[in-house]
Amino acid sequence: GAEKTKNVLILMSDTGGGHRASAEAIRDAFQIEFGDEYRVFIKDVWKEYTGWPLNDMEGQYKFMVKHVQLWNVAFHSTSPRWIHSAYLAAIAAYYARDVEAGLMEVKPAIIISVHPLMQHIPLWVLKWQGLQKKVIFSTVITDLTTCHPTWFHPWVNRCYCPSQEVAKKAQQEGLSEEQIKVCGLPIRPSFARAVLVKDELRAEFEMDPVLPAVLLMGGGEGFGPVKKTAKALGESLYDKEDQKPIGQIVIICGRNKNLASTLEAIEWKVPVKIRGFEKQMAKWMGACDCIITKAGPGTISEALIRGLPIILNDYIPGQEKGNVPYVVDNGAGVFTRSSKETAKIVAEWFSTKQDERKKMAENALKLAQPEAVFDIVRDIHELAAQREPSNFPYELTASFSSLI
Ligand code: UDP
Repeated sequence: GAEKTKNVLILMSDTGGGHRASAEAIRDAFQIEFGDEYRVFIKDVWKEYTGWPLNDMEGQYKFMVKHVQLWNVAFHSTSPRWIHSAYLAAIAAYYARDVEAGLMEVKPAIIISVHPLMQHIPLWVLKWQGLQKKVIFSTVITDLTTCHPTWFHPWVNRCYCPSQEVAKKAQQEGLSEEQIKVCGLPIRPSFARAVLVKDELRAEFEMDPVLPAVLLMGGGEGFGPVKKTAKALGESLYDKEDQKPIGQIVIICGRNKNLASTLEAIEWKVPVKIRGFEKQMAKWMGACDCIITKAGPGTISEALIRGLPIILNDYIPGQEKGNVPYVVDNGAGVFTRSSKETAKIVAEWFSTKQDERKKMAENALKLAQPEAVFDIVRDIHELAAQREPSNFPYELTASFSSLI
């Protein structure tokens, strides 16, 4: 019944597309596995409740990633624990009341953070409120390999790591074996559970029914050399002798509206679909035969589930760097920064080197972890069952601001 329903609060931030996708994946998996037992709230707490600088994290992130060197410095200079701990503790003290209000509005039995900067402040608030024993706090890491140490906080009940490499880092940062669980990256159940038929998808999207298709994208923001690559593909997928295309292109620009309109203005010799932010990524991937993307963890994990060979053409320094060897060393794709080279590889995969493409597709499927998100919610469910809270909904003690 409704009384037994537990609230789950997922803390995320709309930087890129990955955090939201992970948050939605967890919400949907809770719904599929446990129905009404849980009510899931997804909140961008910083955006809703705190002032600058945290409520403009999205803007700052976009700015920094566009100026890649700046992000590189930000990522590495904040890595030593004493720097970020002091910084975050200061922010925590300053914003605690707002964050507290945000938490208390939902009165969660379970808090799940899918963001590297959402451990410290909520955990401090729980401590100040004496709620550490009542509320389960877990971190679901959404970086695949090389991730920032702010992800790891010793007070969490669980830290779900997508790979052994991340688990090792968690250990080095002082988390105990009991806190660490390796599950894979949470991917929306629409990828794992839906049965998709390529012919039907192509009909739905009005694509060419026979020509092999390449999907070109750059994360939620449409980052990376998308335009240059699209142009090179337009050439390499056109057979000049026979005067006909050997492949078709789907370009998903995400929230990058400039990119979409620039691409619309080009005259193409091969069939091209240009789209903005798409809600049905599983279907678009299902309609294509390979993918070109920056090394985003979400896109990579999704492509692996769909069995798409991957050409990585860029990565965000820091958290995405390790994703390149993860894909390449496992034989699921290749890395090149050259748009010409990328276009050549795709043309070969669609003509003389189809075997190579198929082999990589098999390797991709072997690496895929479609069940990860279900493993995560089942484990959280068990944690919650072990710790039946006695007096929910809890009341706040004195507000933090009156303590100082
Ligand atoms: N995505 C989407 N629609 C789009 C573009 C991207 O749903 O139009 C999703 C994509 O499926 C993936 C996420 O956004 O789940 C991108 O995450 P990733 O980790 O690859 O990169 P980020 O954008 O977070 O840097």
